[in-house]
Amino acid sequence: MKLQEKVQVCVECVQYSANGGAEIDPQKVAEIQAGLNSYGTGAEFHYITDSETGELSGGFSWSPCDVCGDTLGGDRFDGFVMWL
Ligand SMILES: [Zn+2]
Repeated sequence: MKLQEKVQVCVECVQYSANGGAEIDPQKVAEIQAGLNSYGTGAEFHYITDSETGELSGGFSWSPCDVCGDTLGGDRFDGFVMWL
């Protein structure tokens, strides 16, 4: 069984989850991967979308991103991290 934990993440972590980080600065990708690795083996982030509208759920927050640790205020989106 996989473990999972609810998280709130920045837009770049959502982009990384959506397309593997192709459009993100490589240094940021490294931060995201390091953040995921801190959860456990094979950790991956999945975002949550509204089942009717398909939109991401979230809003502005000053809390750090739960995956990459970004401390800049900005949009945070709901999702979860799963690992073995
Ligand atoms: Zn992030």
